[in-house]
Amino acid sequence: MSAAVATSFSIKDFFKSFMLWELAKGMALTGRYTFARKVTVYYPEEKTPLSPRFRGLHALRRYDNGEERCIACKLCEAVCPAMAITIESDVRADGSRRTTRYDIDLTKCIFCGFCEESCPVDSIVETQIFEYHGEKRGDLYFTKDMLLAVGDRYEPQIAAAKAADAKYR
Ligand code: SF4
Ligand code: SF4
Repeated sequence: MSAAVATSFSIKDFFKSFMLWELAKGMALTGRYTFARKVTVYYPEEKTPLSPRFRGLHALRRYDNGEERCIACKLCEAVCPAMAITIESDVRADGSRRTTRYDIDLTKCIFCGFCEESCPVDSIVETQIFEYHGEKRGDLYFTKDMLLAVGDRYEPQIAAAKAADAKYR
């Protein structure tokens, strides 16, 4: 019984290969996708939409009056699993506490977003910027001034992403 079944399958397979059945199936699939809507994105000329929660390059934000938001609570430094953040702080003449040093080593960062989640004043954020690079290790060591500069430049985009995501938080 089992020998008869095996024989019938082998005859079927013989005729299938004789008729180039597998080739015809492949050509049919190719033909179907030849006329289907194309999904290839020609990056960098074309770009896909990004989520408001996209975790790209970091930035430090300011309030509308220009005052930096960060209050040097160091929660972001404590929560960072990669120990990529280094903060030093001091008390100003007006009694407010601010950072004197805020560095992120992006070669350590794993872009988990914990720093942003932990910040009580929405100061440290991850922007939608992903087109940046460094040619040597030090290029990806971002200091406070560099992070504030990113925040200053992209504040409208950062604020829009925060607003779009606000109702889900
Ligand atoms: S995104 Fe994660 S790993 Fe990177 S600095 Fe923030 S907490 Fe650290
Ligand atoms: S960025 Fe936010 S969490 Fe980090 S030290 Fe400043 S206020 Fe605290």
